[in-house]
Amino acid sequence: MTTPQSIPATLIPGDGIGPEIIDATLAVLDALGAPFQWDRQVAGLEGVKTAGDPLPPQTVASIRRTRLALKGPLETPSAGGYRSSNVRLREEFKLYANLRPARTLIPGGRFDNIDLVVVRENLEGLYIGHEHYIQIDDDPHAVAMATGVNTRQGSRRLLEFAFAHAVATGRKKVTIVHKANIMKALTGIFLETGLELYERKYKGKFALDTVIIDACAMKLVLNPWQFDVLVTTNLFGDILSDLVAGLVGGLGMTPGANIGADAAIFEAVHGSAPDIAGKGIANPTALMLASAMMLDHCGMKDLADRLRRGLNDTLNVDAIRTGDLGGRATSTEFTKALIARIANA
Ligand code: NAD
Repeated sequence: MTTPQSIPATLIPGDGIGPEIIDATLAVLDALGAPFQWDRQVAGLEGVKTAGDPLPPQTVASIRRTRLALKGPLETPSAGGYRSSNVRLREEFKLYANLRPARTLIPGGRFDNIDLVVVRENLEGLYIGHEHYIQIDDDPHAVAMATGVNTRQGSRRLLEFAFAHAVATGRKKVTIVHKANIMKALTGIFLETGLELYERKYKGKFALDTVIIDACAMKLVLNPWQFDVLVTTNLFGDILSDLVAGLVGGLGMTPGANIGADAAIFEAVHGSAPDIAGKGIANPTALMLASAMMLDHCGMKDLADRLRRGLNDTLNVDAIRTGDLGGRATSTEFTKALIARIANA
């Protein structure tokens, strides 16, 4: 396959460890000869600081033009402050599918040979931000309320993506994760839509299973190998993908793709890690794996595979690892070793 000459893409370094892991990832993509032509933009806290907006219009305009972005983590203040720029980006570009693969990269851990994919609905559920307080007497926050919305169309679109992905990647089993025993309407509609879609279009192409979210969390810790693809609603997917990240060595190891009708944005599952920002010790692997997903998405599987092989060799043959994996390498030392591997591959 021939590598295209130039692919315009938006680059958002993000907050906290974002700029450090973005620099590391860019160095690796350069070493691979990846043809991205970057348009650098800001968002999150950096957007507020430099453009007075957590999602400046020029950032949105850039992604509208390129339809492709690599993004570092964006900080969102908890309780109060501005609304998450990540959620706004997903809404702006209708990024309805969040694909979060978790694969064991370093063998011999507590959980070996993990190869799971979480497909999370990215636009609906309890993430839509319809929240308010009710005042009672002199307490303005006496009652807090949130509205969740799942639609038949939104559920079907995401389930169709997950089922098609399972078929395209040769997966054997898909598990719909829900809480339809309690939230009978909100997550019942997702479950019901998935069962109907499977019967109508996917029966026989893979096995379908259903599980309640709380039992799923327990089963993932007891025996994660019983699962293959997990497909679920927004909030459950957010929680489960962190749990699954923990099975493969932590948040430093899991990438994510936000895929929609209008664009695709690639990022690490983890956040801005303010506790280690600026120390030069962040693990860039998750973002590098996200950039490999971006290469796959753009039809450059050969480069993506070289990157994944390089990561495997750096971590396992050279045993060069950052502190979160029990190693002593800085982000820069890790990146240099990876580039040497890629150069010699
Ligand atoms: P976090 O993922 O930033 O950090 C959790 C823990 O994991 C921390 O101890 C951190 O040091 C560690 N960690 C994370 N990534 C690491 C890496 N690459 N290498 C080594 N260690 C790593 O979660 P948090 O502290 O809950 O969130 C911090 C901020 O990030 C918040 O403002 C949150 O809203 C934001 N956030 C953004 C995204 C995103 O942009 N997609 C995702 C999650 C959280």
